[in-house]
Amino acid sequence: MIIAMKEGVSRGEAEQFAETLKKDGIAVHFSQGANRIVLGLVGDTSAVNGENLMAHHLVEKVIRVQEPYKRANRLFHPAGTTVEVLAAGGTAKIGGGTLGIIAGPCSVESREQIVDIARAVKKAGASFLRGGAFKPRTSPYSFQGLGCGGLDLLLEAKKETGLPVVTELMGIHHLELFADVDIIQVGARNMQNFTLLRELGRSKKPVLLKRGLASTLTELLMAAEYLMAGGNSRIILCERGIRSFDNYTRNVLDISAVPALKKQSHLPVIVDPSHATGLSWMVPAMAKAAVAAGADGVIVEVHNNPEAALCDGEQSLTPAAFSLLMDSLRKYADIEGKHIS
Ligand code: PEP
Ligand code: MN
Repeated sequence: MIIAMKEGVSRGEAEQFAETLKKDGIAVHFSQGANRIVLGLVGDTSAVNGENLMAHHLVEKVIRVQEPYKRANRLFHPAGTTVEVLAAGGTAKIGGGTLGIIAGPCSVESREQIVDIARAVKKAGASFLRGGAFKPRTSPYSFQGLGCGGLDLLLEAKKETGLPVVTELMGIHHLELFADVDIIQVGARNMQNFTLLRELGRSKKPVLLKRGLASTLTELLMAAEYLMAGGNSRIILCERGIRSFDNYTRNVLDISAVPALKKQSHLPVIVDPSHATGLSWMVPAMAKAAVAAGADGVIVEVHNNPEAALCDGEQSLTPAAFSLLMDSLRKYADIEGKHIS
C-alpha cells in the first residue's frame, strides 16, 4: 500500500502518522518526493482500512498495490487447490487437472425423479449429483423445494449411486441437517450473506460459492476470503452469469471470469451454464466454452422430464443430451490436458 501525504506535511508529522500504521508486522518506508512525502507499507495490509486513512487530514491519496484478499490470492499460494471429497470407491475431485462435473435437477421433486436422474448422470460420467431441497425463489408462490424431505431423498440417491451430493444451504439454522451433504452450495443470492459465510468458515465442509448476480470478481474473492479467514479452504468458485442490459439469455455468462479468477486465485473455478443462459439448447456450447477457457468443471441442470419440472425445466438438459455433452467435454478436457474422473 502506498500513502501520499499532502503537500507541506513535514517529516516529523509523517513519522508520527506512520507510528499508527506499524502494527501486525507492517513496516513503513519513507520517500521524499519533489512536493510531498510518500509512505510505502510493506507486509500484510489486508486488515489496513484504506478508506479510514483517506479521511486523515494529512493524507492526500491511498493506493492499494496488493489485492485485499490474501488467503484466496494465488500470489501467496502459487499451486492450484484441488477440492476432494469421499466418493464410492475413492475420491471425487475438482481442480488440479480433474474436471468436476456436477449434474442433476434444479430441485429434488420425488424419490423416483432424483434416483432416476442420479443413475442417468452417473452413467453419463458425472462425478457429483446436484439437487436443491431448499430453493431461493424470486416469488414466494413458486415451488420452494421439498425442504428436509428433499434432503433425505437426495441422500437416498447418494446411497443408491455412490455419487457425492451438492445442495444449497440458505440459512445457517439448517447446517445440522447437512451433515451428510458433501459440498454445500452458497447460492448467488447469498454470496454476501456474511453471517452464513462466517459460520461455513468454521465448518470443514467444502463450499461451492456462486458469484452474486451483480458482484465483481473482487467481491466474489472477498466472500471466499470470509470462508478462508474462518479456517475453511475447501472452496470452489462458480461463475453463473451476471446481470446486464440484454435479456436474450437469463443472465450474461462472463466467460472471462474464468481466466481472471484462475489468475488471481488458486481456488478451483467452475461454470454454471444452466443458470447463466436459462436455455437448454445453449448449455452445451457454454459448457464447452467453460472448459476451453480453463474452468475446473461445470454444474449442469439435468431433468428426466424437463417439460414437467417444478423448477427451471427450460434450462434443463435431458439425460440423453447430457450424455452427448459429456462425450464432447471429454474431448475438450483432453485438449486442455485435463481429465474427467
Ligand atoms: C441453483 O444452483 O440452484 C441456483 C439457484 O443457482 P444460483 O444461486 O446461481 O441462482
Ligand atoms: Mn435452477
